[in-house]
Amino acid sequence: MTDVFRAVRERVSAKDAARHYGLTFDRKGWALCPFHPDKHPSMSFRAGRFRCWACNASGDSIDFTGRLLGLEPMAAVERLNADFALALPFHRQPTTAEVQAAKRRMEVAKVHKAFEEWQEAFIPKLCVAYRVAHIALQGIDTPDDFDRLTEREALATLL
Ligand SMILES: [Zn+2]
Repeated sequence: MTDVFRAVRERVSAKDAARHYGLTFDRKGWALCPFHPDKHPSMSFRAGRFRCWACNASGDSIDFTGRLLGLEPMAAVERLNADFALALPFHRQPTTAEVQAAKRRMEVAKVHKAFEEWQEAFIPKLCVAYRVAHIALQGIDTPDDFDRLTEREALATLL
């Protein structure tokens, strides 16, 4: 299995990520730190990592992206993989939450399908019952007319 974390770290530096997500750099290559209210550039970049000398935030491109965009590390890796078109292979196991969400979607789909099947089976029967009742009621204008119906016809009018 490819270590996608390492692969992303090797391909995208913290500075690459910072630039991509909108930070600008002064002549020394420092940036305003997005993780604290920064008036003078406090964030430096070195060896693929970032460090803020005011708030002590530090890490690699995955840490930076995760923190900036509010993503879990794996989601940050996926985001970098997509945004930098790294085309890294992902073979990870889905998380428990993802498995549960998928199960829920399948259960909802099952209920929808059952309802559609019921609808398909029931509506034609309802239409037949309606037609039977409609035919049976023809010519019935008074209670006496109703009394003259056979039991079966009378039942049909009640459908
Ligand atoms: Zn900072």
